[in-house]
Amino acid sequence: MFEKILIANRGEIALRIQRACRELGIKTVVVHSEADADAKYVKLADESVCIGPPPSSLSYLNIPAIISAAEVTDAQAIHPGYGFLSESADFSERVEKCGFVYIGPRAETIRLMGDKVSAKNAMKKAGVPCVPGVDGALSDNPAEIIKTARAIGYPVIIKASGGGGGRGMRVVHTEAALLNAVTMTRSEAQAAFNNPMVYMEKFLENPRHIEFQILADQHGNAVYLGERDCSMQRRHQKIIEEAPAPLLNLRLRNKIGERCAEACRKIGYRGAGTFEFLYENEEFFFIEMNTRVQVEHGITELITGVDIVQQQIRIAAGEKLPFRQRDIQFRGHAIECRINAEHPYKFTPSPGRITSWHAPGGPGIRVDSHAYNNYLVPSHYDSMIGKIMAYGDTREQAMARMRTALSEMWVEGIDTNIELHRELLQDAAFMSGGTSIHYLEERIAERTKGK
Ligand code: ADP
Repeated sequence: MFEKILIANRGEIALRIQRACRELGIKTVVVHSEADADAKYVKLADESVCIGPPPSSLSYLNIPAIISAAEVTDAQAIHPGYGFLSESADFSERVEKCGFVYIGPRAETIRLMGDKVSAKNAMKKAGVPCVPGVDGALSDNPAEIIKTARAIGYPVIIKASGGGGGRGMRVVHTEAALLNAVTMTRSEAQAAFNNPMVYMEKFLENPRHIEFQILADQHGNAVYLGERDCSMQRRHQKIIEEAPAPLLNLRLRNKIGERCAEACRKIGYRGAGTFEFLYENEEFFFIEMNTRVQVEHGITELITGVDIVQQQIRIAAGEKLPFRQRDIQFRGHAIECRINAEHPYKFTPSPGRITSWHAPGGPGIRVDSHAYNNYLVPSHYDSMIGKIMAYGDTREQAMARMRTALSEMWVEGIDTNIELHRELLQDAAFMSGGTSIHYLEERIAERTKGK
């Protein structure tokens, strides 16, 4: 096992990784920007190194600064967390070339999955069901493009192969709009991702977002840890997640989970990863794979008892998975609310000083947050300041506990979306389960109209 790990991230996930390390008896080095110098989680680490000024391009994305921090502190391995460099094949490659262990997949796997066309092809080959569409990049020939769209059937979606973060996508409902949409998406893709390659697939009108968590070691073993329903989204940003997904046929869950694990064995995957699917009419369609730990990993930990971050570290150290698929038991239900420093209905970011912070507790409640009384939320980064998770024997119990937790949660000095969560936890459609990825935005639109 490693003696010292460098954490190349910030905020709640930097704290989460520290906690995993501490439990494993591993020393931690946290790198931070000038904006995070005074944060308590930085002081809690065994060592900390300032890697640059507040803008992430100069600090959390500064590969040479991170590598030299690892060199001067004698760290053996680097954990990238999520966001920032966590899906950069170049970072993973540089880390390993400099003699450190990268806690995550090999660079070639990150590259394969980072390109959506190659990812989809690899998944199709491995027997994972994908959204109907063309294999590979879209042709330049207008007649071919029209033929392809007719074969798929409208509406279709044009997506950038190198796209991410919900950008580089365009939905097309009629043939008249097709060629223009392809041209526009292509030039946007070139500008934003430096890669003009686009592809076309069927646009699913009312799907849910359901994703599968997997773990794979370096000895050819892979397991799935069940699924999460992340359909409560605004602008492709998840706000509430739950595990397991409500109203899902268990046989289908096991079949898709097994396909994902098998795909990992086939591509020699290493570490934790997530297969994201759209789910409509009892069918799953793969959209992309995230080759890192996700924000919402904690709810899977609550229903399986597996510490995903510790497993990432153990896998990177060359250990075998300590369980097989049949050892994984799914118990109870877990829900997560992401707490963002933003206005609950206007969604304007609200950085600043937290003058009063009271986190909830009690049976079945887990709070992962780096915030505290008098913490200054910097304006330079993502607005998420923590996550409340609620666990219960049943979905109803988990929701009841979440309602109590939200009523106890107290934040002053900045705006947060807690009020929105309180409303959603009382929402009839959400309470019955199975709402689509459009539900939250429709509900917010209705609310705005009503005002
Ligand atoms: P990104 O990497 O930018 O997050 P994804 O491929 O994961 O892109 O897609 C982001 C979101 O776009 C999905 O969660 C879904 O809401 C929507 N989307 C993508 N593909 C389709 C599709 N074929 N049909 C309907 N919606 C889609």
